[in-house]
Amino acid sequence: MERTAVSEGAARIAAVLQHISGDTGKEIDNGSGDASSKGNDSGNANSNVIGTLSGKAVFFGGAGVSTESGIPDFRSEKGLYSAQQVYGHRPEELLSYGMFIREPELFFRYYVENLIDLSAQPNAAHLAVAELEKRGIITAVVTQNIDGLHQMAGSQNVIELHGSNWRPYCVNCQRRYSLEWLLAKSNWRAGSGADRAVVPRCEMDDGIVRSDVVLYGENLSDTALNEAAAVISGAETLIVAGTSLAVYPAAGLVRLFGGDSLIVINLDPTDLDTHADILVAQPVGQVMAEVVRQLDAKKLGRSG
Ligand SMILES: [Zn+2]
Repeated sequence: MERTAVSEGAARIAAVLQHISGDTGKEIDNGSGDASSKGNDSGNANSNVIGTLSGKAVFFGGAGVSTESGIPDFRSEKGLYSAQQVYGHRPEELLSYGMFIREPELFFRYYVENLIDLSAQPNAAHLAVAELEKRGIITAVVTQNIDGLHQMAGSQNVIELHGSNWRPYCVNCQRRYSLEWLLAKSNWRAGSGADRAVVPRCEMDDGIVRSDVVLYGENLSDTALNEAAAVISGAETLIVAGTSLAVYPAAGLVRLFGGDSLIVINLDPTDLDTHADILVAQPVGQVMAEVVRQLDAKKLGRSG
């Protein structure tokens, strides 16, 4: 595949985002301006209204968005190998509802050891996406990740297709627990000599406390799927980043997009590449951070 440089790819993306933001020299209204003087003399009041009503840009992200935060992709070759070597199963088995029921001690060890990293921080990709949401350019984030890093970065409108680590609950009474509580209870530590975790149990009724993460063999939440379908089908621009689209239901959701610009940022080829209007095979964080820089540069260049 032809590799577009970070700056070149970011420039093309910035141009698209600048266009859909209705930004023809007008500043983004951050609520602090003098609203009464706007609209009459700017000449683009109407396009601004349309911009507000339409979906603008939606960011659809996968594992590749979080790898720069040090969160490994358990579906990667390395992840597959280690699951087989250390746990004797494929990740899809270890993270299945069947394993959760049959061997919860092994399930919790794999889950705690491989899918939770309390020290992980939002990277340049999360921060850039949050900044673009703040500016009204990105209207929604649809993510396959369960790490909560988009929210940590400040994104408000996040649709988590596969749920989240951060909302453990009792399967009996639905009582909520913190992730820290779940980690402490599961009591699995590398080097402890144990090869199984302790199953976290509800303090009220002894029910298993699991995370609100969709396991293999379980259905995705209808609410999340419907919300994702709505924002993607209503979007003017779709940025698909850090996902090969191989994981259900990403490919199906992306097919609902009928807007103008499909942007794909992924290191490896994806099934969407031939449909992409802009294709950048570079790390998501580098590209998105550069997009924000270039948008700022355009703004400065105009007013200066
Ligand atoms: Zn309970």
